[in-house]
Amino acid sequence: MAGSSDFDFFRTSEEHDMLRDAVRSLAEAKIAPFAAEVDEQGRFPQEARDALEANDLHAVHVPEAYDGSGADALSTVIVIEEVARVCASSSLIPAVNKLGSLPVQLSGSEELKTKYLGALARKEGMFSYALSEPEAGSDAAGMKTRAVRDGDTYVLNGVKRWITNAGVSDFYTVMAVTDPDKRSKGISAFVVEKGDEGVSFGAPEKKLGIKGSPTREVYFDNVRIPADRIIGEEGTGFATAMKTLDHTRVTIAAQALGIAQGALDYAKGYVAERKQFGKAIAEFQGIQFMLADMAMKLEAARQLTYAAAARSERSDPDLTFFGAAAKCYASDVAMSVTTDAVQLLGGYGYTRDYPVERMMRDAKITQIYEGTNQVQRIVMARNLPA
Ligand SMILES: Cc1cc2nc3c(=O)[nH]c(=O)nc-3n(C[C@H](O)[C@H](O)[C@H](O)COP(=O)(O)OP(=O)(O)OC[C@H]3O[C@@H](n4cnc5c(N)ncnc54)[C@H](O)[C@@H]3O)c2cc1C
Repeated sequence: MAGSSDFDFFRTSEEHDMLRDAVRSLAEAKIAPFAAEVDEQGRFPQEARDALEANDLHAVHVPEAYDGSGADALSTVIVIEEVARVCASSSLIPAVNKLGSLPVQLSGSEELKTKYLGALARKEGMFSYALSEPEAGSDAAGMKTRAVRDGDTYVLNGVKRWITNAGVSDFYTVMAVTDPDKRSKGISAFVVEKGDEGVSFGAPEKKLGIKGSPTREVYFDNVRIPADRIIGEEGTGFATAMKTLDHTRVTIAAQALGIAQGALDYAKGYVAERKQFGKAIAEFQGIQFMLADMAMKLEAARQLTYAAAARSERSDPDLTFFGAAAKCYASDVAMSVTTDAVQLLGGYGYTRDYPVERMMRDAKITQIYEGTNQVQRIVMARNLPA
């Protein structure tokens, strides 16, 4: 997390533009051609993973000290935005690699960072983040998964639900109760490996959108892990999980921006071609006003998201508000812009022959995960800017 001032941050804007151009070209050439098929078949976008890993774009946030690219928060946002513009499912590869590994980066021991951030950067495995449970979603501190210390090991038992990229990822940050009397202060975070004995996965959820991103339950049946896989001190896991979300809600905002941009770009092209009443429908002011509103809302969301990314980069005290505000606003904009894009294509927009219905379905999840937008409003209200 380098960078200490606005000047440092904005000085690299040319590099950010170059990065955007490079990721856009790659996404259009290697990821977009498979997006509809990935959605239709509900299969993991392996082509996207291969392309992102081949170009070191799968986890750009990992610091150079651990073999990563050491990209700043805005660069990570740009990568996710540009991948989401063509395929939201694929954008969950860089987004969830950051979500899963950030607890280690923020609070892990030097040994954990070297081992697991290094493995992620070197493409030895992807990372997932396991906080939610069947009975503990918005109230995540009500989790039941237990971790009991036994000599120099911990033994984990329980069920995590809705875990993005579960089964594909090799590494999991798992939040579990170590002291049931202390609620959120009795929760600790651990790194669990896919290959640890007693780890297994449920069937993929049948979802409305992001169908290429596997979402599964993860089961822990007497999973015994070395005690040094704990992330930070015992009892600090929930705080680490929440601090992580402060940063990664900015990346969900980025995903929302990308989905909305993809829908706006497609609709803009369509209305220029589609003719009714003897002229392109783009010539009707009713259509022009819709496009103007879509672009205006999207740009407002982008400005808020980039402002939040600057705060993430510097770990500013008002990041909690900005991260929640960016995620909430950008996801609401993505829902509205993609719905309008479907409208602009008329009946054709409602079919799978065109990508905007997929984008509308994909946009919906950005209002739900990493805390629903009601929860974001609770977070904002508790952390109003001074
Ligand atoms: C596709 C997908 C991927 C996911 N990926 C992950 C992941 O990788 N890792 C992970 O840990 N979790 C993940 N999640 C879980 C996600 O973060 C939760 O679904 C979300 O936090 C909501 O929890 P819930 O589904 O239990 O809903 P509930 O908490 O039961 O909420 C139901 C409704 O009640 C509202 N509500 C709840 N409490 C309040 C309140 N106090 N005030 C007002 N309204 C309230 C909610 O906003 C919502 O509208 C994923 C979910 C999905 C669907």
